[in-house]
Amino acid sequence: MDKEDDPSRRPESPLATLSSPATENCPGPHQNRRPLVVYCRDCDEALCETCFIQLHNGHRHASVDDVAVELREQLKADADRLATVALEYAERLSIMQVGPHLKSL
Ligand SMILES: [Zn+2]
Ligand SMILES: [Zn+2]
Repeated sequence: MDKEDDPSRRPESPLATLSSPATENCPGPHQNRRPLVVYCRDCDEALCETCFIQLHNGHRHASVDDVAVELREQLKADADRLATVALEYAERLSIMQVGPHLKSL
């Protein structure tokens, strides 16, 4: 009878497990949570439709999905370029290492 272990008094609230971060919410100056669906190319920002219309009217925009694809392709291209540059540097380094000033030691 002296047990005070109440199973309903758990530290975690059921709400914490319910919120899914699948869609990011816009931090803009509006009450409702809105998903980030528009990407403003002029400001380099992801926005909800409301913020775009109110704060970025007339700016160039794209859908966030399109931009995500673009960024992924750009990253791939950058990685390819970096690999080429790294190879070039490796070649230059190997040339320097067999250079004459190593032999003068
Ligand atoms: Zn917003
Ligand atoms: Zn903008």
